[in-house]
Formats: sequence, C-alpha cells, structure tokens
Amino acid sequence: MVIEKPRYSIIVPVYNEEGVLPELYRRLTGAMDKLDEPYEVVLVNDGSKDRSPEIMRDLHRKDPRYKLVNFSRNFGHQVAISAGMDYASGDAVVIIDADLQDPPEVILDLIAKWKEGYEVVYAVRAKRKGESFFKSFTASLFYRIIYRITDVDMPVDAGDFRLMDRKVVETMRTMREKHRFMRGLSSWVGFKQTGVEYVREERFAGATHYPFRKMLRLALDGITSFSYFPLQLATYLGFITAGLSLFGILLVIFLRLYGHQALYGQATTLVMVLFLGGVQLIFLGVIGEYLGRIYDEVKGRPLYIVSDAVGFDGDTQRKLVG
Ligand code: UDP
Ligand code: MG
Repeated sequence: MVIEKPRYSIIVPVYNEEGVLPELYRRLTGAMDKLDEPYEVVLVNDGSKDRSPEIMRDLHRKDPRYKLVNFSRNFGHQVAISAGMDYASGDAVVIIDADLQDPPEVILDLIAKWKEGYEVVYAVRAKRKGESFFKSFTASLFYRIIYRITDVDMPVDAGDFRLMDRKVVETMRTMREKHRFMRGLSSWVGFKQTGVEYVREERFAGATHYPFRKMLRLALDGITSFSYFPLQLATYLGFITAGLSLFGILLVIFLRLYGHQALYGQATTLVMVLFLGGVQLIFLGVIGEYLGRIYDEVKGRPLYIVSDAVGFDGDTQRKLVG
C-alpha cells in the first residue's frame, strides 16, 4: 500500500485511555474519511500504564494512517501535544483530546475555515456538558483573568482543540520552553486566526487526568509564560503600604507633639507585623514560581524522551529526544 503524503495531521495525546481508543478510532475515521483527502493520526502515548499502547499498536497494524509516538514516561499533556507537532507532517495540523470531549466531527468545520484562508482555527466551548460546576467556574474565571493580565490576544473559552497551518506549526516548533501553555503560544505567534463554536461533550469513558492540583499548575504556567503581573503586584502593594505608612508616621508624630497617646497596646503592632510578614511570604512564593521556571529553562534538558516511534518514515522515526 502506497501511503500518500498526508494533507492533514490529527494529533491525539493519550494517557491511560484504553476505554475510549476503539470509539475514538471509529468516530475520527468516520469524520475524516468524509473528506477524501490523505491524512495521518499522530497518537502520542504519554507514558500510559494501562493497555492503551497495545491498543494503539493494533490500530496502526489495522490502519497505517494511525502512527504512534511512545514516551519513555509521563511528560504531561502540553508536552505530548508538542511532540505530536514535531512528528506531524500535514499541511494543516489539528490537536484533539482522546476522550471524545472534543467531537471529531468538528474537525471538518475547522478545516472548512482553514480552506477559507485562516491559519489558526480554534474551537470555542459554547457549552460544557458533564463537568462539575467547580470545573466550569474555575476554567471560565481563569480564561478571563489571563485575558485581562496578558498582552496576548488569547480567545476566551478556547482549549487546545484547534487547527494550525503548517506555517504556524513551524514557528511554534522553534519555541522549546519547558513550561508550555500551547493555546497561549498559538495565539502569541499571530497569523490569521478565527474561532468556531462547539459543544464540549462528556468524557466517553474513564476519568479526567486533570485534578485540581494539575489544573492549578497549568494555570500558573499560562500566567507566568505570558505575564509579569503577579510580580508587578508586589510593586503596587509596596507603594500603597509605603504611602499609608508615611501618613501613619506623620499622624503619630502629630498626636505625640500635642500630648495625645497615639497607639494603644501590642495588638496593633502584632497584627501589622503578621500581616506584612504574610504578604512578604506570598510574594517570595510568587518570585519562587518564576525562579523555578527560569531554573528549568537554564538546565536545558530535552522536552521529552521517546522510547519508540511507529509508522513514521526515515529520520522522523529515529528521532528520540525533542
Ligand atoms: N493527557 C496526557 N497526559 C497527561 C494527562 C492527560 O496526554 O498527563 C491527555 C488525555 O489522555 C486526554 C487529554 O490529554 O486526551 C486531556 O486530558 P483530560 O481529558 O483528562 O483533561 P480534561 O478534559 O478533563 O481537562
Ligand atoms: Mg477530557
């Protein structure tokens, strides 16, 4: 069988998704076959511990358009997407979750916009099904905060589900930062961008791999990658506190000169010292968040390590670190 150069690459990050892979194959193939154009699916196995790798190998044997990149361990969702972009060879590249929360049929809408000439087409979550109030609320709050405090035009309520033109993929591939917020990077590069609305479905099977702790880390990666606002906040608060203190000092001197007692007891002193101590610790933490990320960059380790790649040709196949 001669495999044509794919026009589309669909990147799917996979972490313990044995319950969804057969259905993903059915839905994704069903949608993409409608186009009658060559495509490939780059499955990135992010160190799954269940039967996902075997299932994906079988998919490749059955349908060589499905290719597989196996990581040596779990490197995280954002890194898995990045690896997919290194391995993909299509003229247009689509990123989609494995769990069918992003309906594969929407890819056809994304492609239609690309054919109109848009270079980044992101899918906007008009509605979310089957997610807790807490998750929708914190996600929605996060998108609005990051929109306010960064200079990058990041669309509100758009996740990683998007299509990118080859040009965009090539520019994004040059950015090897370790704490990656891919949707931010794909806005940062510019180009002609547009959105398509869709309804985010319930997970087909299994449970989310984004507990609160990981969601918070992703949010912090997003904010620290694109904004100095948390650092500047210390400056603003510092000026306000210093200004208020100056006023306080003058007041105390004035009261003392005219024979009144200015401040009573230790409580005031104690409360102020503790309050300022707390604020200082918080901002030490903020500096720490940035410092830790600088340290990770300086170490210059590779983004990911591949244990094996299946179905790619030549040099791509042999590439083990990225
Ligand atoms: N995923 C991954 N590595 C991880 C966590 C998740 O590759 O460490 C994949 C997962 O298999 C799925 C996608 O990233 O295809 C989104 O994850 P999930 O559905 O758990 O997140 P949610 O949709 O709940 O935010
Ligand atoms: Mg999901």
